[in-house]
Amino acid sequence: MTGPETPRPSDFIRDIIKEDMETGKYGGRVHTRFPPEPNGYLHIGHAKSICLNFGVADEFRGLCNLRFDDTNPAKEEVEYVESIKEDVLWIGYDWGDRMYYASDYFDQMYAYAVELIRMGKAYVCDLSAEEIREHRGTLTQPGRNSPYRDRSAAENLELFERMKAGEFPDGSRTLRAKIDMTSGNINMRDPVMYRILHAEHHRTGDKWCIYPMYDYAHCVSDSIEGITHSICTLEFEDHRPLYDWFLDELKVECHPQQIEFARLNLSYTIMSKRKLLQLVEGGHVKGWDDPRMPAISGLRRRGYTPESIRNFCDRIGVAKRDSMVDMALLEFCIREDLNKRSPRVMAVLRPLKVVIVNYPENKSEELTAVNNPEDPGMGTRTVPFSRIIYIERDDFQEVPQKQFFRLSPGREVRLRYAYYLTCVGVVKDEKTGEVVEVHCTYDPATRGGDSPDGRKVKATLHWVSAAHAIEIEARLYNTLFLKADPDDVEEGQDFRSNMNPDSLETLAARAEPCLSDAKPGDRFQFERMGYFCVDPDSSGGKPVFNRTVTLKDTWAKVRKKGK
Ligand code: ATP
Ligand code: MG
Repeated sequence: MTGPETPRPSDFIRDIIKEDMETGKYGGRVHTRFPPEPNGYLHIGHAKSICLNFGVADEFRGLCNLRFDDTNPAKEEVEYVESIKEDVLWIGYDWGDRMYYASDYFDQMYAYAVELIRMGKAYVCDLSAEEIREHRGTLTQPGRNSPYRDRSAAENLELFERMKAGEFPDGSRTLRAKIDMTSGNINMRDPVMYRILHAEHHRTGDKWCIYPMYDYAHCVSDSIEGITHSICTLEFEDHRPLYDWFLDELKVECHPQQIEFARLNLSYTIMSKRKLLQLVEGGHVKGWDDPRMPAISGLRRRGYTPESIRNFCDRIGVAKRDSMVDMALLEFCIREDLNKRSPRVMAVLRPLKVVIVNYPENKSEELTAVNNPEDPGMGTRTVPFSRIIYIERDDFQEVPQKQFFRLSPGREVRLRYAYYLTCVGVVKDEKTGEVVEVHCTYDPATRGGDSPDGRKVKATLHWVSAAHAIEIEARLYNTLFLKADPDDVEEGQDFRSNMNPDSLETLAARAEPCLSDAKPGDRFQFERMGYFCVDPDSSGGKPVFNRTVTLKDTWAKVRKKGK
């Protein structure tokens, strides 16, 4: 399994586990689980939970199970199960032979429920969902007992049996834990354990028409699997007394400890699977793996590496208070990783034609370029050069603004790995006045990009030879939302009103010919333009390059501002 990239400082969860190891609680065992509900694809928030659960298991020589929390038959799909497995493995963790489904335990859960009924700790209630809500009371008002609360154990057993046998319609009865309708904790006011749902389940078929509720199913599943530390997000803190109540009443052998941590929130994106599904189904994105999505499959397609995601999870750490992490930190992590591993190439995203008027018409030559200045071991390659080249449209201004030091009439610049180049004229579109071609001269004495007389230039431009370059499609991404908190909306609007209409920009770009061999998933730095990754759908037609991230580190700025 994969451990952390750098030694990590401890945190409150690791402190708890360390202490439990020392005191011999759970016999010195550590056993965690990652329990996704298969109703959507995993996202970067799940990555935090995966790195935490599998990570602590690794560090303490314990085990971590993958458990599908498939207690809700209506929403689960096999497609999600497969994608979840793929994503966990890709992030770098392995559950070995311990992949389970909560539905594997339906028989045991039923048997435990019968036990609770026998002990007088659970009862069948005929109130409707609406009536149960009315009886529950509020934060300031106690609840009222259900009129069915005092049924005899024998009657409850018979009714529960008949619920299971399918004799009653959906919603007509529930099984409820008999705890305390006046409890200060609303979760303890006789919570529903089972509901009737005549629905096909993706694993158990039509065997069941009663399904356990999360709070009951989860603690029982944890206990059956011998989990020691049941790590979950903060919203379950108020459910912990119930988690403990079920396991205490059932006197199970293994009573795991529930520990809550703050979920990951990331600026300019959303983490709710329900809302992400709305984006997919509404056609706002091209699928869960759209490179703009915070889904693991989207990040993978965008060009993120598993190392960068694990590193991000290490850096954010785990805390007990909710907070918003800046997207710039995630980008910092991928930039740092790609800087080390990506070969540099030249590609022109918005091409402007340049004719080098003193370069021979039929000549071309091969110039030597460095593949990665960060890693000399990555060697060099040759890049073809000829009379007509493309440069970036933004690298030329006919009338230069203040502080613009790149190409403009009369100005000399360096072409990376090639020659010094001076602008001697422009050709304009007669109608629009737009510059469509730039005429330049080159200095043959500066081959390789250095001037023998020590002449300085203020800019170095990337370029491609027009005759040799290949056509590619470059997809540039912006945040999906315009607001750091997409849920911050006007009255009557929802998060979709904050969507960024310019989150995708598609460009017909030109790249040096070595990229014709690039395969889906290959990563490059396009000099000065960012890190790019070949899209899986690049077969046929032009190769498609997704921009993973720009070169500019905005995180450094954010960090400084925060100080
Ligand atoms: P949603 O509320 O959108 O349905 P969920 O939390 O119910 O999401 P699950 O599939 O049940 O999604 O999550 C599996 C595990 O991942 C849970 O233990 C959950 O706490 C954890 N998890 C989900 N989202 C985050 C997040 N943003 N940060 C950290 N952990 C998360
Ligand atoms: Mg959940």
